[in-house]
Amino acid sequence: MFCLGIIGIFTLALSKLSAQHVFMERKEFIYEGKAKQVYSTEDPNKVIIFYKDDATAFNAQKRGTVQEKGIVNNKMTAILFKKLAQEGVPNHFIDQLSDREQLCHKVEIVPLEFVVRNVIAGSMAKRLGIEEGTVPPNQIIDICYKKDELGDPLINDDHAVALGAASYEDLKVMYAYTRTINDFLKAEFDKSGITLVDFKIEFGKDANGNILLADEISPDTCRLWDKETGKKMDKDRFRRDLGNVEEAYFEVLNRIS
Ligand code: UDP
Repeated sequence: MFCLGIIGIFTLALSKLSAQHVFMERKEFIYEGKAKQVYSTEDPNKVIIFYKDDATAFNAQKRGTVQEKGIVNNKMTAILFKKLAQEGVPNHFIDQLSDREQLCHKVEIVPLEFVVRNVIAGSMAKRLGIEEGTVPPNQIIDICYKKDELGDPLINDDHAVALGAASYEDLKVMYAYTRTINDFLKAEFDKSGITLVDFKIEFGKDANGNILLADEISPDTCRLWDKETGKKMDKDRFRRDLGNVEEAYFEVLNRIS
C-alpha cells in the first residue's frame, strides 16, 4: 500500500513535469539545418528542436525525404539522451514535447564532429583502402571540422585549437564523453541485436560554458548493422539506394524501445 502511494506520487510528479513543458511553445524561428529546425521559446536558455523528414547525403549533393524519419529520430534521440544523462553524460535534452519536437537547453555548437569507429566503414574504408566490415584492434575517434564549404574535413587536435574550434581542455572533456557514449551505445545496441559500426556526435556550450552533448543520435548519424544478418539499418540505405529506408528506421526504434 505504502509502495503504491510512493509510485502514485512519483507518477504524478512526472506527469506534472511533462504537463509544464507541454505549454512551452515555439516562438521565433532561429535556424534551419539539413534535418532539423530550431525555434526560440519564452525562456532565452531553452529552444525547441523540430525534426524534419528531409534527408541529405554526400555533403547535400543527394537530397530526398524519408517518410516519418523525423518522428523516429526525435523519439530515438529522446530515449538515448535520457539514458546518457543517467550515465553521467550531460546533454541538451530536456523533454519530448510531441512526435517531432523536443525541448532542449540552448547551446552554441562546437564546430567539430566526433566520429567513433568500432568497425571500419564509409569514408575511412574508402580513404585508406580497408575492406568495409574490418574490426580494428583499437578504438578509433576522428574529429572533423564542421564546415560545409570544405566538406567537413578530417582534422587533428592541434588544428582544432588553431582554428579556435576548441581548447585542449575542452577537447579532453569531449573525448572523455565520447568514450563513455561509445561504451554505453555499443552495449545498448548489442542488447537489441544491432552492431554499432560507427557514429557521429556533436557537442555544444550552454550559457554557463558547460559542455553538453547536443544534436541527435539516430539512424541518420550512426551505422547500424543487424548482428545476425549484417543488414544495414541506417542512412546508408538512403545513401546507397538500398530501399526500405523507412522500415529500417522504424525497426531500429522498435528494437531499442
Ligand atoms: N556522419 C554523420 N554526419 C556527417 C558525417 C558522418 O552523421 O556529416 C556519420 C555517418 O552516418 C556514419 C559516421 O558518421 O555513421 C561515419 O561517417 P563517415 O566518416 O564514414 O562518412 P560518410 O560515409 O557519411 O561519408
